[in-house]
Amino acid sequence: MKQNNLIKGIPASPGIAIGKAFLYKENKLEIDEKSNLSKEEEIERLVKGREIAKKQLEEIKENTLKKLGKDKADIFEGHITLLEDEELFSEIDSKISQKKCTAEFALNEAIDEYATMLANLEDTYFKERAGDLRDIGKRWLYGVMNEQIVDLSKLEPETIIVAKELNPSDTAQINLDNVLAFVTEIGGKTAHSSIMARSLELPAVVGVGAVLDELEDNQILIVDAIKGEVIVSPDTETLQIYKEKREKFLKEKEELKALKDKEAISKDGIKVDVWGNIGSPNDVKGIISNGGFGVGLYRTEFLFMDRDSMPTEEEQFEAYKEVAEKMKGKPVIIRTLDIGGDKDVPYLGLEHEDNPFLGFRAIRYCLQRKDIYDIQLKALLRASAFGKIKIMVPLVTGVDELRQVKAMIKDIMAELDKEGVAYNKNIEVGVMMETPAACMMADALAKEAAFFSIGTNDLTGYTMAVDRGNAKVAYLYSTYNPAVLRAIKRIIECGKKEGIMVGMCGEAAADSKLIPLLLAFGLDEFSVSATSVLKTRKTISDCTMDECKALADKVMECVTEEEVLEILG
Ligand code: PEP
Ligand code: MG
Repeated sequence: MKQNNLIKGIPASPGIAIGKAFLYKENKLEIDEKSNLSKEEEIERLVKGREIAKKQLEEIKENTLKKLGKDKADIFEGHITLLEDEELFSEIDSKISQKKCTAEFALNEAIDEYATMLANLEDTYFKERAGDLRDIGKRWLYGVMNEQIVDLSKLEPETIIVAKELNPSDTAQINLDNVLAFVTEIGGKTAHSSIMARSLELPAVVGVGAVLDELEDNQILIVDAIKGEVIVSPDTETLQIYKEKREKFLKEKEELKALKDKEAISKDGIKVDVWGNIGSPNDVKGIISNGGFGVGLYRTEFLFMDRDSMPTEEEQFEAYKEVAEKMKGKPVIIRTLDIGGDKDVPYLGLEHEDNPFLGFRAIRYCLQRKDIYDIQLKALLRASAFGKIKIMVPLVTGVDELRQVKAMIKDIMAELDKEGVAYNKNIEVGVMMETPAACMMADALAKEAAFFSIGTNDLTGYTMAVDRGNAKVAYLYSTYNPAVLRAIKRIIECGKKEGIMVGMCGEAAADSKLIPLLLAFGLDEFSVSATSVLKTRKTISDCTMDECKALADKVMECVTEEEVLEILG
């Protein structure tokens, strides 16, 4: 690409980075079946590959021990044990003899057979080993074929990752000492890797379109993740401008840190709450360091994704308990499983649907798979003894769904009583307000829910009847549309009328243009990504209610998005 070439994308996690491109492309391995070598030579390749994989795993184990402690490092000890399993080795060995095939062919086949067999077992411990086995199998295979496996935890300093897309486990591997930002060809602001980037405070620009074949490794890139732009091979003048912008951004970030321990209070003394959104217990750190006084949304589906089997009740209990404990008695709203839509969990066997966003998703799935939902609710109730956990139900369309969840909770409580297990008997069960149906029924729902949290990401899409993946109608996906603003206002008013807390955990809660309106409508709690906590608090503290109300009156008279934006700027 030419000097100063500008690539436009979506700003997914704020910041400015200047670094060297690392083009993250998975090498496609061609596995030949037929071998030209002797059996002994193939076995030698197999052993050598295993040594390479073992060395890598030992390094990862050491690094994990330093960074995350023994618990997490032990996972890789388990991987090494699997890698050295003698039974597995002799299975591959006999395949090489019988089929006269290459080591990689035998290895690939054996791993696939073993992993499938494990995944089909009843025992959850063995089910979970299937994913580990595939992981180590891949490393071993790359070792045998003498191919470099891309290890995102071991990149050069000052790297900017450019990838087609990053899955959450890729993002989790990123070493923040070396990686300054990432850029992906596909994905949006609410994609999981974007959410994780915000938790990690890692600048990210997503949805830039096909660029991997246009860029070169080590090319200098400027990532302006405030505007959503990437500048390729900048000239000295541009570089200087962005170095200054980066300094300014970092200075403002420092200034915001002064608000870390302060409450969110408007100029005229109206106090609201600013909490944070998380996807895993690890994200709590970011919320606390950014001064979030609670967790307003814990998306539990991440616990179910990127693995080969369901997390057990015990695993779920540990995760929920960890969050509750780390938040030390501050509120933690845990949303129950929201899968379907754009979040697939292969081992749950969700069927293909023509309209997944209108289909078998979230609470609809859970109420039909009560076996799975029961486990989650039980784990949540058990964890409620360790902090201030509240349960939130996603994609609700009416009171009947809420009643069913509450009935299940009541039954599980009776079971726990019998077992003598502690839990919070007064646990709050609230509703995620993200469908037009819930909005229309908000008056009735407010009588039975302990709290509302408005999910504007979905509420916008469903209210505007827009498929978020369809570029032709993307212009309609806007929270500034008067239809969406009216929905938000109605939900808040209905909640307030019944005296319940009304929060917002969609992206709109962090939008400085919308915050004055939300305050005027009476929103109690703003749940935003870790990096937006302080900025949101600052915006709130710059407001006065009189000004907010006057602004809201004007905005609510608007009948088009254009008119709204004319006023909000
Ligand atoms: C929302 O819909 O606004 C929301 C917060 O939930 P998610 O983005 O996980 O669907
Ligand atoms: Mg949602």
